[in-house]
Amino acid sequence: MKPAPFLYRCPGTVDEALALLEEHGYDAKLLAGGQSLIPTMNFRLSEPAVLIDLNRVDDLAGIEGRDGGVWIGAMTRQRSAERSETVRQAAPLVAETLPWIAHPQIRNRGTVGGSLAHADPASELPAVALALEARLLVRGKSGERWVPASEFFTGLFATALGPEEILLGVEFPAVPAAAGWAFEEVSRRHGDYALVGVAVLVTSGSGGRCDSARVALLSVGDGPVVSTAAAGPLVGQEPTAGTIGEAAAAAARDVDPPSDIHASSDYRRQLVRVLTRRALTRAFNRTQGRE
Ligand code: FAD
Repeated sequence: MKPAPFLYRCPGTVDEALALLEEHGYDAKLLAGGQSLIPTMNFRLSEPAVLIDLNRVDDLAGIEGRDGGVWIGAMTRQRSAERSETVRQAAPLVAETLPWIAHPQIRNRGTVGGSLAHADPASELPAVALALEARLLVRGKSGERWVPASEFFTGLFATALGPEEILLGVEFPAVPAAAGWAFEEVSRRHGDYALVGVAVLVTSGSGGRCDSARVALLSVGDGPVVSTAAAGPLVGQEPTAGTIGEAAAAAARDVDPPSDIHASSDYRRQLVRVLTRRALTRAFNRTQGRE
């Protein structure tokens, strides 16, 4: 299929892009890497009258270390972030996760901001943003605002972005010194969307006891979710096979995943249990320098 006819606009600055959004409102769509938008247009699931191409807005791309954390501009290609030493040092969970997104050809075009703004429930980056308590910078005609990841993802392919707003980028805060992290997912073939995925950040305190555990899941509902239940059996306890197993079981009880042609709800729940256990085990090993 080919897309329905549309007007093409190519602004050179964020202000020009915002003016075009204001002019065309709901008729317009922003184009980033096009790896999600163009297929939906080709299938005529989306028929924007105007495409506003962000690819010439240079200010929107870039990676910058900030206070031990890292800023990634919205138009930064996923592959550039994956290869960035700054990202690897400041946000190792992001670096570990990026290769799980699709294939290198898609990551060469697909952007970090496009993935976050698209908010596909099976996408990896939204869950990682939740696990790391990232914040997203959004700009509209009335100015800029920071939105915590926990408030950005509002439902199925839905975010806190208004129709006349642009995502400028995402800031991942510094990872605490005593932290461990891990990402795990299962898909039918390498590069496919995940049947289930889990992103984990843990910290350990004195005597190796767990201080905090953040478990974010993808592909288990309308959007990424943090399993608060998973932290219960761990915080204040030693991360043994027993407590990690209890946390994984709690995470599985905490979700009600959908059934679809790819996997049943029960199978997804079982994946939550297995992947959470694996991810927590690797993350705690990292707090002790064992990986
Ligand atoms: P686009 O497709 O250009 O845009 C997506 C949406 O975001 C549009 O609605 C657009 O208007 C909006 N948008 C883009 N940028 C901004 C901005 N700065 N401000 C506001 N709104 C904006 N993704 C995964 O996460 N995991 C996978 O396993 C995976 N597998 C894939 C497999 C295939 C075969 C393909 C084709 C894609 C796959 N993707 C996967 C999607 C890929 O990661 C996309 O790159 C990503 O979802 C969207 O990024 P994009 O830059 O291509 O955005």
